[in-house]
Amino acid sequence: MSKQLRILVPVKRVIDYAIKPRINKAGTGVEKAGVKFSMNPFDDIAVEEAVRIKEKHKNLVEKIHAVSIGPAKAQDILRTALAKGADTCTLVDAKEAELEPLAVAKILKKVVEKQNANLVILGKQSIDDDCNNTGQMLAGLLKWPQATNAAKVVIDEANLRATVTREIDGGEETISAPLPMVITTDLRLNSPRYATLPNLMKAKKKPMEKLTLSDFSDVDTAPRLEVVKVEEPPARSAGIKVASVDELIAKLKDAKAI
Ligand code: AMP
Repeated sequence: MSKQLRILVPVKRVIDYAIKPRINKAGTGVEKAGVKFSMNPFDDIAVEEAVRIKEKHKNLVEKIHAVSIGPAKAQDILRTALAKGADTCTLVDAKEAELEPLAVAKILKKVVEKQNANLVILGKQSIDDDCNNTGQMLAGLLKWPQATNAAKVVIDEANLRATVTREIDGGEETISAPLPMVITTDLRLNSPRYATLPNLMKAKKKPMEKLTLSDFSDVDTAPRLEVVKVEEPPARSAGIKVASVDELIAKLKDAKAI
């Protein structure tokens, strides 16, 4: 069988999940100065899934291509993706521009076309803007089927189909569609591997294409939204200690919690 599957994995550089973000002084977003950045955790799961598909279907997968749209420093997460098993990658250097999901999806569509990709695996959501938009918008722009919130992905080599089990409220839903297709990852899909030092060294030799937004001058990336304000959640009031179970039950009854 000829190698027919070309997987694109978009990865976003976000503030590390272990860091508690603080609102900037202007109240327009989170403070980015002096903060650790990493690959969006759902994208790490997407890279892992692509690599597992390649390992399982050696004769089917031609390549895994990672792409990130962001500052030049997004190279770091692309190198991580390469170290974990992506073959090639593209950095779209957007400088300081904060692109909205629609603009990202339009650029990704161009990258899909250039890479001739027929499976895109994205995170379901970036943990910085929590939009949960890009995968769905990309599927719409490409007019491809989509399976969001994937908990399991099975590729049928013979028929070039994907069967995806999705996490839905109170259960799971399994759907199937022919490729090309867009899949977004949920937390339970897999546990990503670590990038080992030798693989990080080897990743330096793998190809990284570098583009800028001017290479996408026919794409309208103008913002549609204005951030009015960003606020911290209200501080939680202090709890109280009770001396006995009876007192706890009385307090819960007072609060009409039971
Ligand atoms: P969002 O719609 O912003 O919650 O993002 C959903 C997914 O789209 C992320 O998990 C990434 O896979 C992808 N994505 C969003 N923004 C970017 C970006 N700037 N560069 C690459 N991938 C992105």
